[in-house]
Amino acid sequence: MLGTVLRGPGDIRCEEVEEPEILLPTDAVIKLSATCICGSDLWPYRGLQPVTEPMHMGHEYCGVVVEVGSAVRTVKPGQFVVGSFCISDNTCPHCRFGFQSSCEQREFMSRAQAPYARVPLADGTLVATPDMPADDLVPSLLAASDVLGTGWYAADAARVQPGSTVVIVGDGAVGLMGVLAARQMGAERIIAMSRHRTRQDLALEFGATDIVSERGDEGVARIRRLTDGVGAESVLECVGTQESMMQAMNCARSGGSIGFVGVPHGVQLDGQGLFFAQKSLLGGPAPVRRFLPHLMDLVLERKIDPGKVFDLALPLDDVAEGYRAMDERRAIKTLLRV
Ligand SMILES: [Zn+2]
Repeated sequence: MLGTVLRGPGDIRCEEVEEPEILLPTDAVIKLSATCICGSDLWPYRGLQPVTEPMHMGHEYCGVVVEVGSAVRTVKPGQFVVGSFCISDNTCPHCRFGFQSSCEQREFMSRAQAPYARVPLADGTLVATPDMPADDLVPSLLAASDVLGTGWYAADAARVQPGSTVVIVGDGAVGLMGVLAARQMGAERIIAMSRHRTRQDLALEFGATDIVSERGDEGVARIRRLTDGVGAESVLECVGTQESMMQAMNCARSGGSIGFVGVPHGVQLDGQGLFFAQKSLLGGPAPVRRFLPHLMDLVLERKIDPGKVFDLALPLDDVAEGYRAMDERRAIKTLLRV
C-alpha cells in the first residue's frame, strides 16, 4: 500500500510501505476513513527536529476496524472507531488519574497517513461509535483524535469555567479548537489572538467574542485593556515558542491558569519570574482518551462542528502539496482522503 514517508526536511513522499498487521494480541488494524496533517508534523518537515531515518508520518486517525488481536475485548471488526494520538492501556495509575498521555505503556501513534494502520493497545486507545456515522461527520470525528482533543485539553488545563474570560494564543488549528472548547465550557469572553483574516473569521465562528491582532508586548497591553487591567483567568498557549509562551504568561492574571499545548521549541522560563507571577501551568501532550467519549458524542449529536478546521482536502498521493500548503500557511489544516 501507499503511505507517507518523510525522508528529510521538505522531502515528503507518498510511497510503497509495508501493510500493517497484528503484531501483539492487544493490537487492532483499522482501515482509515480519513487522515490528516498535524501542525507538529511541520517541525521535522521544516528541519526543526532532526530526521535521522525515514519517518512514517501520521498520528490522527479514525476508521473501521478490520482485524483485532486475540486479547482485544472492547472493539471488533466492522466497528467505526476513533483513537487518541497517544497509545494508552487506560488501566495504569496515570490513565486512571486521567493522564493517558503519561500512560506507563505510552507510545505515540505513527504511520496513520496511509489507508490502513496498526493501533497498539486497542482496548485502551480506541473508542467505538454506536453505529456507522454519516460520511459528513468523518472530518469532525477525525478532529477528535488530536487537534480537537488537544484544544480541549488546553482549555481544561487552563481551568476554563462558565462565565470566565479566556485568551487563546495561537490561531493554528489547535488554537481554533481551543476557542471551540472554551465556548463549550461556557466561557463568557473568548479573546482570540490572530493576525490572519481567514483564521479570525473561523475563530469568530467557533465562538470567539474578541479578536486581538497585536502580538508580543503590544498584544499583552491590549489584553490588559480588555480585562480592566488584570488579565484573563485562563490562557491557552497553542504555539510553543518563547514569544508565545511569554505572551500567554503575561496575559494571565495572578492566580490564573495557563494550559500550554504547543510543543515547546527553545522555550526557557525563569524560576524567580515564575515564583512571583503566581500563575498555574499545566500542559504537555493531551490525554485525548479522557475526553474522547464526550467529544465524539458532541460530534454525533451535531452540537459541534470541529471538522470546519480542515480548509483543504487532498487525496493521499497529493500529500506533498498538503504539507506545502500548511507550511506556507495557505491552509490551516489538510485532510487526506485515503
Ligand atoms: Zn496507562
